[in-house]
Amino acid sequence: MSQTYYLPQSNEVELFSAAAQMNLPVLIKGPTGCGKTRFIESMGEQLGRDVYTVVCHDDLSAADLVGRHLISEKGTYWQDGPLTKAVRNGGICYIDEIIEARKDTTVVLHSLADYRRVLPIDRTGEVIEAHPDFMLVVSYNPGYQNVLKGMKPSTKQRFISLSFNYPKPEIEKEVLIKESGVNAQTAQKLVDIASEIRSLDDTDIQEAVSTRLLIYAGKLITKGFDPYQACMHSIVESLSDEEDVLEVLQKLITLHF
Ligand code: ADP
Repeated sequence: MSQTYYLPQSNEVELFSAAAQMNLPVLIKGPTGCGKTRFIESMGEQLGRDVYTVVCHDDLSAADLVGRHLISEKGTYWQDGPLTKAVRNGGICYIDEIIEARKDTTVVLHSLADYRRVLPIDRTGEVIEAHPDFMLVVSYNPGYQNVLKGMKPSTKQRFISLSFNYPKPEIEKEVLIKESGVNAQTAQKLVDIASEIRSLDDTDIQEAVSTRLLIYAGKLITKGFDPYQACMHSIVESLSDEEDVLEVLQKLITLHF
């Protein structure tokens, strides 16, 4: 299997490796589509640990993480959830968008995220001591945070924190070339468009353009689509539904393509 491509942005690889060695959990903050998931996949490979990913939503219950009793012809049996699997067998449990989950859900993480490293399962009475290779990683997007949904300090203060942002222009350009197949000149134009959009007053755009969207634009261009159309269908339409904002973005694209 070929290795997952990940170009480091700063000292995140060293920090993550150190946290893994010290058995400390990691919290990654950053906007959507800036490389958080790719980074964790790559770290899983580098450390030789499986990655169990859970994407949170407001209906996510503790059972979705820990496991539940299921019924078969032979009766009921217990099935481990992704968190329990990682705790038992070793591996990285990556809980994405943790602030989307209900607060009571994340409480199950507390005893795993400090020196205890145990997971008590109320339903079965079992208390599992974490495998030496178990690592807890959570992420969230500070942009989506609101008063009701912020992460509790008692949860937050158990983690080594890494702050991610969109990659620096030279890095983003290289990522675009590698991931979408565009040439250096087109990649540069896409990076320039991104930097202009990112410097716009963000009151009208909920969140600036992600590396992911730039890659989509690049892929459409590589497939033979006209670059202007490619940018309209990937970048512009994804960022806003407001007519006046769309117009501003469209003009910005025409300056480059
Ligand atoms: P997030 O988890 O932050 O929402 P992803 O990890 O899914 O975002 O990143 C979106 C895409 O951007 C990835 O699929 C990958 O193609 C690309 N990407 C972003 N940053 C990097 C990087 N530093 N190295 C390699 N690819 C990257």
